[in-house]
Amino acid sequence: MQHGPSILESPIEYLKGVGPQRGDMLRKELNIHSFGDLLEHFPYRHIDKTRVFPISAIAPGMEMVQVRGILGEPEEIGEKGRKRLSAILRDGTGELELTWFQGVQWVKKMLVPGRQYVVYGKVAWFKNRPSITHPEIEPADEENVAGRNFLEPVYPTTEKLKTKFITGRALGKLTAALLPQISPRDVPEFLPASIMAAGKLMPRFEAYRNIHFPPDQASYDAALRRLKFEELFVLQIKLNQVKIKRHQLSKGVIFHQVGALFNEFYANHLPFALTNAQKRVIKEIRTDCGRGHQMNRLLQGDVGSGKTIVALLSMLLAADNGFQSCLMAPTEILAQQHFAGISQLLKDMPVTVALLTGSVKAAERRKILQRAVDGEIHILIGTHALIEDTVQFKNLGFVVIDEQHRFGVEQRSKLWQKNEIPPHVLVMTATPIPRTLSMSLFGDLDCSVMDELPPGRQPITTVHRYESSRHNVLEFVGEEIQKGRQAYIIFPLIEESSKLEYENLMRGYENVKAFFPEPKFYISMVHGRMSAEEKDTNMQRFVKGDTQIMVSTTVIEVGVNVPNASVMVIESAEKFGLSQLHQLRGRVGRGSEKSFCILLTGPKLTSDARERLKIMCETNDGFRIAEKDMELRGPGDIEGTRQSGMLNFKLASIMHDKALMEAAQRMAENLLEEDVELMKPEHAALRQHLLAKKGKTFWSKIS
Ligand code: ADP
Ligand code: MG
Repeated sequence: MQHGPSILESPIEYLKGVGPQRGDMLRKELNIHSFGDLLEHFPYRHIDKTRVFPISAIAPGMEMVQVRGILGEPEEIGEKGRKRLSAILRDGTGELELTWFQGVQWVKKMLVPGRQYVVYGKVAWFKNRPSITHPEIEPADEENVAGRNFLEPVYPTTEKLKTKFITGRALGKLTAALLPQISPRDVPEFLPASIMAAGKLMPRFEAYRNIHFPPDQASYDAALRRLKFEELFVLQIKLNQVKIKRHQLSKGVIFHQVGALFNEFYANHLPFALTNAQKRVIKEIRTDCGRGHQMNRLLQGDVGSGKTIVALLSMLLAADNGFQSCLMAPTEILAQQHFAGISQLLKDMPVTVALLTGSVKAAERRKILQRAVDGEIHILIGTHALIEDTVQFKNLGFVVIDEQHRFGVEQRSKLWQKNEIPPHVLVMTATPIPRTLSMSLFGDLDCSVMDELPPGRQPITTVHRYESSRHNVLEFVGEEIQKGRQAYIIFPLIEESSKLEYENLMRGYENVKAFFPEPKFYISMVHGRMSAEEKDTNMQRFVKGDTQIMVSTTVIEVGVNVPNASVMVIESAEKFGLSQLHQLRGRVGRGSEKSFCILLTGPKLTSDARERLKIMCETNDGFRIAEKDMELRGPGDIEGTRQSGMLNFKLASIMHDKALMEAAQRMAENLLEEDVELMKPEHAALRQHLLAKKGKTFWSKIS
């Protein structure tokens, strides 16, 4: 269905009103190279040109207004260096003051006193007089005076372009010149008729016209909805295609049986009864691994929900079927802890477990590598050292990635190249992700949720205290220690290299030590500048209960498990993000004792920090906290999402378009159920569109 090159591919300088010089600027400043790029440069708002207010009608409480009037002589007011420009606009009904603080000389040169202008901006009141600071101002040429019956688009632009008179409104003139030249064949419809009907969607060509020049608000809304849907739907088609194809086509090693190791462990070595959520997830994994296709499963469980045992049982299942497993953790401490914990649980069983991290000495490392190749090691635990090409297996069948948000897709895919048939992959994360975010980031993975904590857990009581009451807080810590409990005191060392933060940590440590003197008390300390051995020694002393207090930076953030610890004190808590606070808090409340989290802050707090602390004190629910986190920070800042390139929507927002996203997801899934390769005639246009887009957009390589 090719019709030759579309007009949308024409270089931007060929558009009427552009030319080589402005074309160059549009390319540099806005990345607009072609007619098509301009078409996709969407307005961020529209001015209702039918609504020009008489100045006398401007009243307190009004936000943005548009007026038209004759400009008076602009005057420079104030001292040098703090000069501002002021001019009065009169329309026969009243006076409006216009003020500029920046670009005074330039603005003054541009304005022509006595001329009629159209002015738009946010109204402020000084001494009962309305004024607008840095208004949008444009000569009321004929077009403006006449007014049109549509909403006039205003586009994102840059300061540099403005100095060349390519303002947010001037860009609209270019778009207006472009639109009559394009036809539906330049922006062909690719959504199948059934989807158009089910979603009540505006046709594509019409949507492009209406997003720029809508006759009314309803048309704009419908156009925006259509184009947002298109973005979300295309992503969902891609992700679900990967998922369904994997289900149907990928090869996977088959775990035929639940064997002696699994059963023996389950019957005689499991230290507790599994929760229903744990049982359900293990069953999901068993089913997945028996189908002959590769499993790619994301396990989301709140901190302390017991993901480790799920991983262990899965790895025993692999061993029962003659396959090796590996478990990859984000930090050395966590890898060591997994190794210690799992070795302990398996100590009476014929299962070989080994640890491979960056600090394992060369001779020992060679031995481990050899044993992995020989197939002697059943379970290999480690850090990212496991990814290296030197690590090879005889028959790797199962990979667990703990706390996945620190591993990129690329790193993950390296692991499944370690076996001829790719091993099953279980990704575990204790940073719950809002549903819409996980739908767009991990839509190609199958998802399990563990929404149940082991029985007997008591909710952690969280309070906010100012640093001025640190003394009381430490006294409280002392009382808990008297009862046989242990405590964490966390200091921010967000930038490992920050000298100031490091000094704070050391001073904090000395303070704690003075408050809890030896030999009655012993204190461990762990931070990023220590060697792995030092960290390990300190950690082990705390795990064994030889020390009662752990002073640490966020290196213990994820995974660390000391059930006897019941107090978490977080210093400078205002410096931490929500999910980080939740992770840190998750280090306590892991046993049956009542646990506490105390957030210490300085006296001055931003409103965002205040909001974070409030949420922390209100809830222990990681999923709620994740939603709130996304609300406060925006999805682009959630760890790991920015680089992914998955969220580069032009219009859609996973925060604000949840319902639309869910509809797109459902419809994409249904469509692919019937026709995963998009071979039906009614899906030809969609297939064509995806092919044309390929290479332009990055998307998940997991397969
Ligand atoms: P996370 O999901 O945060 O990784 P862990 O796997 O570290 O959690 O488990 C947290 C704690 O809960 C550990 O001490 C673990 O032994 C314990 N645990 C896990 N499952 C259960 C269960 N079903 N009943 C009681 N305790 C459990
Ligand atoms: Mg864990």
